[in-house]
Amino acid sequence: MATEPTEPTERTTRPPDTDDRFEEPLRGVDVDPETRCAHYDDPPDVIALRCGACATYYPCAACHDAVCDHPFEPWPRERFDEPAVLCGVCGRTITARVYLDGDDRCPGCAAAFNPGCRAHRERYFER
Ligand SMILES: [Zn+2]
Ligand SMILES: [Zn+2]
Ligand SMILES: [Zn+2]
Repeated sequence: MATEPTEPTERTTRPPDTDDRFEEPLRGVDVDPETRCAHYDDPPDVIALRCGACATYYPCAACHDAVCDHPFEPWPRERFDEPAVLCGVCGRTITARVYLDGDDRCPGCAAAFNPGCRAHRERYFER
């Protein structure tokens, strides 16, 4: 899969700025061009998740809490039909419901997502 050279640049972005490499509002710590971060940087760690309080995408909750002045809040259940996950490979957004019902692949570009993210489900999506 890794046929194109990836930019080595890792960026840390703090509010009110957002990372201009992404079309959606996104920030975090040492974020690479496919949304891997200082905390999760294995090859399949290519999703960013949206905070229920500030509606901004972050590679992980630790990124959020490092740069934000409020704790990360799970995406609220009544908004599960709105985008809450961003694929770092193609930049497409995915609704919470499609992501949670999916098979750990991007429905747009078929990039493999880390299935281990599900272990942290309650951190990111309201029960
Ligand atoms: Zn937030
Ligand atoms: Zn992180
Ligand atoms: Zn994708």
